[in-house]
Amino acid sequence: MENWGLITFKSRFLYGEESLVTQVIAHEIAHQWFGNLVTTHWWNELWLNEGFASLYEYLATDYISDGKYSFKKLIESNTKKYLSIHSLGNDTKPATKTIDSLASIANAFDIATYAKSGIILNMFRKVIGIKQFDESIRQYLKGQSYSTSNSRVFFSYFQMPRGNGPSSVDEFLRPWFEQVGHPLITVDHFNETHNILSQSRFDNGKLKEIDNQTPYPFWKYQWDIPVWYLNENNDLEYVWLFKNSTAIVRKNAKLNPEGSGIYKIKNNVEAQKLQESGQRTTFPLFNVHMDII
Ligand SMILES: [Zn+2]
Repeated sequence: MENWGLITFKSRFLYGEESLVTQVIAHEIAHQWFGNLVTTHWWNELWLNEGFASLYEYLATDYISDGKYSFKKLIESNTKKYLSIHSLGNDTKPATKTIDSLASIANAFDIATYAKSGIILNMFRKVIGIKQFDESIRQYLKGQSYSTSNSRVFFSYFQMPRGNGPSSVDEFLRPWFEQVGHPLITVDHFNETHNILSQSRFDNGKLKEIDNQTPYPFWKYQWDIPVWYLNENNDLEYVWLFKNSTAIVRKNAKLNPEGSGIYKIKNNVEAQKLQESGQRTTFPLFNVHMDII
């Protein structure tokens, strides 16, 4: 628990597996900045405390363990955990909540507020660049010191990189924080050299109940998605798959190689190949990676 200048722990959190203990301690220390120095204006955007504490617990654990527990692996495993088919259900709630009672405050401390927000912030950090992200975070913490913040204020400290991406941070991130669930990217044949990507919301039939509790979103369950892939030189690049649009990628581009993209992939091209070769005749083919499991 991250009181001002006094961090307390339940003993069971201090006698567990080394990397988990490290993460818990790092998480509470991160709250000295995200939560104490700058706190969320209202409980509906608790992710401003918990999402950042989650992100920085991964970064700090990597830093002090000399890479033994790498940030990449921690993020990848948390993203996989979040996207796991078995965890779908309540866990797909939006990170931004409606808070209108004492009980709803208690319910706000869920995996969407913690893990989902942390991986959304990591995606944002990758898009705008680590240097720029760190600099803007410093400005944000200085500018909002001893004060409260909300998402609009937070977004105002950042700018999208020049280029062909979403026009503002607000336009890019609000659909990620405010919508139930996450995207499913479908890969289809485009021509001999390229595949075409399209998006829909991933739905395994468990979303109805949560949908009934949340207003139909302005963005109609569409997202601006940075789809990372390895280019011919094995360098990481990304292409934007915009709301209500499609994107084209090379046939052999490995999508989401670091596993940090917050979406599942349904690869119809690979599935067809496998079916034709007799290796697989059943579905599903959902995975966080391009690889078929
Ligand atoms: Zn926390």
